Amino acid sequence: MPEKKSVFSPSELPEEVKPDAHEYKTIVCSNCLGTHRIPMPCGDRFCAVCNTRRRKVARAKITGVMDKLPRTKAYVFRHITLSVANCSDLKSGIKFLTDSFRRLRQRSYWKNRVSGGVFTVEVTGKPDNWHPHLHILVYTRGMSWTQLSKRWNHVSGGLSCYIQNMPPGKAVIYMTKYITKASVPDHLIKTVSALMKGIRLFQFFGDWHGLAAGIKIPKFHCPTCGAARWEIIDFTVYEKPINAMSAMIGKLNPHLPLNKSSPQEPVIEHTLHIMSS
Ligand SMILES: [Zn+2]
Ligand SMILES: [Zn+2]
Repeated sequence: MPEKKSVFSPSELPEEVKPDAHEYKTIVCSNCLGTHRIPMPCGDRFCAVCNTRRRKVARAKITGVMDKLPRTKAYVFRHITLSVANCSDLKSGIKFLTDSFRRLRQRSYWKNRVSGGVFTVEVTGKPDNWHPHLHILVYTRGMSWTQLSKRWNHVSGGLSCYIQNMPPGKAVIYMTKYITKASVPDHLIKTVSALMKGIRLFQFFGDWHGLAAGIKIPKFHCPTCGAARWEIIDFTVYEKPINAMSAMIGKLNPHLPLNKSSPQEPVIEHTLHIMSS
């Protein structure tokens, strides 16, 4: 994996531009040599810039799994919402919620009715009174609200359980929305994002886990020529045009910095991992 280097570091920027600062890398299309700026993941769960890509990835994976499922009349998609009592410590509240859901999935009632699905955690509420809950998309041969509520209460003490019919297309839109949206007021978004660090955006369970394994994530195609092979222009190493390729890039990017002290080969073989992972 190429060393992560910034085009600029947001911390070095003047205060007035910081809120909009996002780390980008410039990449060049191997086919037409057109250049594009792409955002590097910033770690903020609710970052609008990063979420465009995350939504695409989530949608591709979930749709990919759903397309592989046999369409039988016996099984349908359902959207389930599960929650537990509000908590003051969000991290342990989320852990309790997801642990409880794991226990629910081990119950024979669940196992006999659900082949698999995907879930995401959504957080509402405010400090000291957080309300984490799960949005779950399941492929099921049907379940009763009374029976599921009873079992959810057994494993979690929670009483809140909703089951909703969901046509496949709507199910994907629903899930990707919950995966990337912040459901707290603006001034709490950073807090919630920090508290949710390390919690996966979404998670497959049951046979969806295996079904998701081989699904390819859409690559970023060049808006000019449609190709999908890119090279990173690493500003710190990419110094001066020393061959035909770099000379051409140099022409396209007259502002590339020159560093006379290290006239090394341009780094053009690096593959951009976030494009393919
Ligand atoms: Zn191109
Ligand atoms: Zn970001």
